[in-house]
Amino acid sequence: MRVYLDHNATTPVDEAVAAVMSEALLDLFGNPSSVHSFGQATKGAVDEARQAVAALLGARPQEIVFTSGGTESDNLAIRGVTEAQAQGKRHHIVTTAIEHEAVLHTVKALTKRGWTATILPVGQTGVVEPEALESAITDDTALVSIMHANNEIGTIQPIARLAAIARRSGALFHTDAVQSVGKIRADVTDLGIDLLSMSSHKFNGPKGVGALWIRRGSRLVPTTTGGRQERNRRAGTENVPGIVGLGVAARLARERLDTEGKRLATLRDRLEMGILNTVPRTLVNGDSTHRIPNTTNISFDRVEAESLLIALDLEGIAVSTGSACSSGTLEPSHVLRAMGLSAHRSQNAIRFSLGLGNTSDEVDRVVDVMPRVVDKLRRISSASSGRSRLQSVVGG
Ligand code: PLP
Repeated sequence: MRVYLDHNATTPVDEAVAAVMSEALLDLFGNPSSVHSFGQATKGAVDEARQAVAALLGARPQEIVFTSGGTESDNLAIRGVTEAQAQGKRHHIVTTAIEHEAVLHTVKALTKRGWTATILPVGQTGVVEPEALESAITDDTALVSIMHANNEIGTIQPIARLAAIARRSGALFHTDAVQSVGKIRADVTDLGIDLLSMSSHKFNGPKGVGALWIRRGSRLVPTTTGGRQERNRRAGTENVPGIVGLGVAARLARERLDTEGKRLATLRDRLEMGILNTVPRTLVNGDSTHRIPNTTNISFDRVEAESLLIALDLEGIAVSTGSACSSGTLEPSHVLRAMGLSAHRSQNAIRFSLGLGNTSDEVDRVVDVMPRVVDKLRRISSASSGRSRLQSVVGG
């Protein structure tokens, strides 16, 4: 049995999505900007997808801009809003220490061009305190960008409260909702925000397509220039099969949001409790109440996460670490470090993220395998640390 528990990285495409996409690829080849019937048929399909995405977000279809995914949506939001402000009075951006690199690196790039940025800290469970935003925000703040749900720990931020603070000071509020859209309700009116990024491949749609929702009236300068597509907000001929696939994925996600959310939360809790009860010295990272239903992040004392990931892969179980391996050194996750966790606990963290195809049999299989695999790695690690202690005593 092979078990895929890495749905926050990406999800398999739904069969219904693939079927509609392959039809679109063959039949909807007209350019949606063309006036003739071939073009208009394609335009109709793109508009239908726009309506489905808008319905998922409780938004108006005209406010949806299709992009190449979450990264581009984040870039368009942050660069587009700040560019529109460039002639204005405001020069300050606020974001948080636990954002995805698509936000963090974009903000960093802007600081090299004269913008100032405040990176808000988070508490031990990864939640941003509204008071922290309250004291960081000034009359100079143009944009606040805070993610809806975190990709590593699943923690959900109090977006409505945070956005209200931004609104009071006249700043726009962007949320990276790549990990929440399709998993929990992400209604733009309830959230009270101005811009929202989403990505199709996180909820059983195709890769390389996503959307930015822009509240009507928000000023934004496009980051790609060219044709007049997407109401002048994103130039370039549309990725029609991708957009059509995203539309179907959005419709399906909306239909099953409640039932699937409950099912996944039950499975996730069964997995989490199963691991905590059978594997000693394990700790859950993040906020255990305010989190998306499919995610748990667990630290295994004295087990290097990369070794555990590989050992589980050999058992046919796919998970992920919070760590990025850069230039041969293991960098502890910036998210877990920002929460104040020790380097040790951060380096021992594994993310389990469930999705549509997962079953209770699969969860039971993982719970069954875990104690044996962890115990073996701990024995290897204590044998090797025993050896290195001996080496340092005898000068080896
Ligand atoms: N933002 C978050 C929170 C993510 O988890 C990801 C992907 O992992 C992205 C942005 C980037 O999205 P995409 O892969 O569609 O560019």
